[in-house]
Amino acid sequence: MLKEKTTVLKFGGTSVADAECIKRVCSIAIEEAKTANLVMVVSAMGKTTDGLVKLAKEFNSLPEGRELDMLLSTGEQVTASLVSMCLHEMGYAASSLVAWQAGFITERAHNRARIAKIKTERIQGHLSKGEIVVLAGFQGITDCGEVTTLGRGGTDTSAVAVAAALGAQKCDIYTDVDGVYTTDPRIIPEAKKLDIVSYEEMLELASLGAKVLHPRSVELAKKYDIDLSVRSSFKPEDKGTKVIKLSEVERMELTQAVTGVALDKKQAKLGFIGVPDTPGIASKIFTTLASNNVSVDVILQSVAREGIIDVAFTVNQDYLRKAIQISEEIVKEVGAEKVVHDESVAKISIVGAGMLNKPGIASEMFTALFDAGINIQMITTSEIKISCVIDLEHAEEAVKAIHSKFNLAGTVEEIIV
Ligand code: ADP
Ligand code: ASP
Ligand code: MG
Repeated sequence: MLKEKTTVLKFGGTSVADAECIKRVCSIAIEEAKTANLVMVVSAMGKTTDGLVKLAKEFNSLPEGRELDMLLSTGEQVTASLVSMCLHEMGYAASSLVAWQAGFITERAHNRARIAKIKTERIQGHLSKGEIVVLAGFQGITDCGEVTTLGRGGTDTSAVAVAAALGAQKCDIYTDVDGVYTTDPRIIPEAKKLDIVSYEEMLELASLGAKVLHPRSVELAKKYDIDLSVRSSFKPEDKGTKVIKLSEVERMELTQAVTGVALDKKQAKLGFIGVPDTPGIASKIFTTLASNNVSVDVILQSVAREGIIDVAFTVNQDYLRKAIQISEEIVKEVGAEKVVHDESVAKISIVGAGMLNKPGIASEMFTALFDAGINIQMITTSEIKISCVIDLEHAEEAVKAIHSKFNLAGTVEEIIV
C-alpha cells in the first residue's frame, strides 16, 4: 500500500489558526497524498503558545523548564487531533500522533531540546495502511519519558527531522508568507521574494532573527540534503522559495553581495562595569552563564584603562531575568563595580554569500545607519554576515535604510546594470 514517494508538509500557527484554515491545509494535504505517503507536521493554533506562556507567568515568573514543557506541548496536540478529525470528515484515513507515540526522542533538556533520533516504526505502520499521519510538532520525549519542547518555532525542526528520518523526497514548510524575502515583508512591503536561497544564507538569516524558518531546521536540511521549500498555505499554487546548496546558487557571482536583512527584536544587553583587567575574567563570566544554560550572543570588551575594563553582551530577552540573576553573583566574585542592563535593543544583520571577499560591505551598512541617524552600540561579523546592535526604537527604520542602501527591492537585472 506504500507509495514510492514520501512527503512531509509542515503547517505553522497561522495556517491552522481556525476551522477555515484547518480545512484549507487539509485540502493541500489531500492533493499531495494522491501521489505520496504523507506526513503532516502541525503547530499550535494561531497564538496559542504565546497564550500558554502568558498563562504560566500568571502563576510563576520563572517557571521550571519541565512544567513549562508539560504546558506548551499541549498546543500542538490540539491541532493534530483536529486536523485528523477534519481529514476523516473529508473522507480520508488519518491518525494523529504526539511525540511519544511518534518516537521523537530528544536529549534530556527542557525548553530547547535537540532531537536525538526518531524511531519511525509507528509512523511507517500508519503510512503503510494508507493513512495520512498528522504529527504534533515542537515536542519530544526523553529516553526516561519526560516531555520536552524544541524551542520556540521548533515545529519547522520537527518537520525536517522526520523528513530526514523517513528519507522523504521533500519537506514543504507552509506558512503565512509565500516564501523567504530579502527582509521581513511585514516591515518592508517592497521586500523581494527570493525564488532560491542557499542553506548557508538561510541559516544565517534564520539565526539572526528571520523567524520564517527555525535555524535548526535549516541546519538539519543541509546536513541530510533535504529538498526544503517555504510556501504559503493561503496561496498553495505558488512554488515559494526553495532552499538549495550554495554550489547551485548561480546568482551569487552575478548579483548583489547582500541577499537579505534580518532583524531580531528580542535581544537584551547586559554590561559588567569596572571589571579588573586580569586573565580569566571573560572565562569566568561566560563559563558561569553557559553552565546556567544562558546563551550569549554578541560580546564587546572595552580597551583597558587603569587596569579596568567593561564587558557587554547580549542575550535573548527570554533569558534576561536569569542572566541578571547570575550576573549579580559574578559581579561579587570577580570584584566588578556593577552590572547594568538594557532591554531596548535590537540586532540588525545583513547576510549574503556574495559578501565573501568583497570589501566595503560593512562600511556601506554603517553609512546607511549613520545617514539615518542611528547609533551603533555593538558590531559582530562572520564570513557571510554583519550584525549591529542598535536602539530598539530605531529597529524598523534601520531595516528600511539598509534594505534601500543595498537596493534589495530592485530586480536582479536592475542590480547587475
Ligand atoms: P509559522 O507560524 O508559519 O511558523 P512564523 O511566524 O514563525 O510562521 O514565520 C513567518 C513570519 O516570518 C512571516 O509572517 C514574516 O513576518 C516573518 N519573516 C521574518 N523575516 C522574513 C523573511 N526574510 N522572509 C519571509 N518572512 C519573514
Ligand atoms: N507553537 C510553537 C511556537 O509558537 C512551535 C512552532 O510554532 O513552531 O513556538
Ligand atoms: Mg515558525
